[in-house]
Amino acid sequence: MSQILIRHLFGPGPTNPYPEATEALARPLLGHLDPQFLEIMDSACDGLRAVWGTENRRTLPLSATGSAGMEAAFVNFVNPGDPVVIAVNGLFGERMCDVACRCGADVIRVDFPFGEAVDAEKVAAAHPSPKIIAAVHAETSTGVRSDIAALGRIKGDALLLVDAVTSIGGIELKADEWGIDIGYAGTQKCLGVAPGLAPFTVSERAWQRRVEKPRSWYLDLDMLGGYVGEASGSSRTYHHTAPVAMVASLEAGLRRVLDEGLDAVRERHEAAGRALQDGVEAMGLELFAAQGHRLPELTTVKVPEGVDSAAVRRELLEKYDIEIGAGVKECANTVWRIGLMGPNAAPESVTLILGALREVLG
Ligand code: PLP
Repeated sequence: MSQILIRHLFGPGPTNPYPEATEALARPLLGHLDPQFLEIMDSACDGLRAVWGTENRRTLPLSATGSAGMEAAFVNFVNPGDPVVIAVNGLFGERMCDVACRCGADVIRVDFPFGEAVDAEKVAAAHPSPKIIAAVHAETSTGVRSDIAALGRIKGDALLLVDAVTSIGGIELKADEWGIDIGYAGTQKCLGVAPGLAPFTVSERAWQRRVEKPRSWYLDLDMLGGYVGEASGSSRTYHHTAPVAMVASLEAGLRRVLDEGLDAVRERHEAAGRALQDGVEAMGLELFAAQGHRLPELTTVKVPEGVDSAAVRRELLEKYDIEIGAGVKECANTVWRIGLMGPNAAPESVTLILGALREVLG
């Protein structure tokens, strides 16, 4: 077997996990209906309510990655022909359109330039009475934060569906206060846990308007509710074999985050991101995301003229064990994405990546 490398995961995710989350993966395995495991699951759901900023009873980790969270969000709430307004300012908004379309939605796509935030007024003007308004809180493809509270203010009777994959546990997220009805996230970014689960939350208001029989068996939230989210104690029934080690890891990661305190964790992400962005600009490089809407946890940097983007990433990986991401789509060769998430949102990581970049760029 080749040597196991320890990489600094400074890309768009996954990030390096918190040690507590890694340690939990190595614990002796429990059965998925073992009372001890069910306590861990309940604790994970409580932790998820805290990081979502919600009291929603139906808050649970789906057994799959963030994209399955996206599928679950649409397949459980879209009936064929339902008007669904989707704000698109990057790759993940585009993915939402594809997923919603496959569920039979009448998709009304509202485009914004990549690198800019979503404008709530423009979204509101797109359709008089959509069933759903959907947007990405933190666009990982561009490094941009959109104002979800503003969408909550204009949503009217619509359900507000939000992708919080890269925002959860890193920047402010207040599902109840902002009016988020359906939310999905991921574990591998600011929560500092390996990829594999999709934290999900649904308001009572959305629940009343769910699809009676969703076209997905695995992601049918009503059926899942018999095991997690609604059921508790011995009333739980088997739906699928929960990935017990991953749930234990998520629970440990959430406890780590909540012990530090959500505000402190967010301030740590903010400080690391701003220090990185200041440092990058001090090197004479330009940032890609629009000023005032930049995510601290994911910095997008314009590749300087004449520099081979892929060669720089390769050298960072081979010489320094540092992974950063390329841009996406039309920005594939012109933008780098540098993530400082979870335990990597720290001054040491800022020093490391800035020092390595300086050396590689000469
Ligand atoms: N949404 C956003 C904003 C993301 O950044 C990602 C992944 O990077 C996804 C959705 C999809 O999540 P996953 O790759 O875990 O399926």
